[in-house]
Amino acid sequence: MRIEGLWLRALAGILGWLGGRWIHRQRRLFGSRARPLTTQEHDDLAGFFDQELLASVRIRAVEQVSRPWFVRPLAWLGLPLDMDFRSAAGITFGDLILISGLDPGRAVPTTLLFHEMVHVLQYQHLGIDGFARVYVRGWLENGRAYLAIPLEQEAYAQEDRFRAGERFRVKTREALS
Ligand SMILES: [Zn+2]
Repeated sequence: MRIEGLWLRALAGILGWLGGRWIHRQRRLFGSRARPLTTQEHDDLAGFFDQELLASVRIRAVEQVSRPWFVRPLAWLGLPLDMDFRSAAGITFGDLILISGLDPGRAVPTTLLFHEMVHVLQYQHLGIDGFARVYVRGWLENGRAYLAIPLEQEAYAQEDRFRAGERFRVKTREALS
C-alpha cells in the first residue's frame, strides 16, 4: 500500500503519539533495577560520547523486548513491520537501554552498546516524543523498511565507523528533527 500526503501525515501523527506513549510505559516498566555503565563499558565508549551522556545512561538486561500492542493492528491495515521487536538484541528508550537474551555473566557486545548509545544521543536531541515522531515518520516515508529509517541509518553508519576502529565524536544531524 502506498501512503502519501495528508493520510501519511495523519498516520504519522497518530503512530508517533502512540509510540511515545509506549516508550514512556517501557521506561516505567524497566527503569527500575537498571544499572549504570561498568568501568569497562564506559572506557570503551569514552571519547565517542560526552561524559555526561555516558554517566546518565542506564542498562537493563531483559529476556525479550516486548512488541508494541499496535503492531498487529498495523499489519491488519496492510502495514506490517519488517522487523520483530521480540528478536531485537537491544532497544533504547531515552537514556534507558534494554539488552535482550544475554546469558548471565556475559558482557554486552560493545558494538551493540555503541549503536544504542547513538540512539540515546538522538533522544537527547529530540526528546522522547520527538524521537517517536521522527522514527515513525521515517519508517512511513521510506518504504516502511527498518534499515531505511533515517535514525537507524545514522546509527548504523556510525556503528560501521566504530567497527572499523575509527576514533571520532558521535554527532546526530539536526536535519533529522
Ligand atoms: Zn537502532
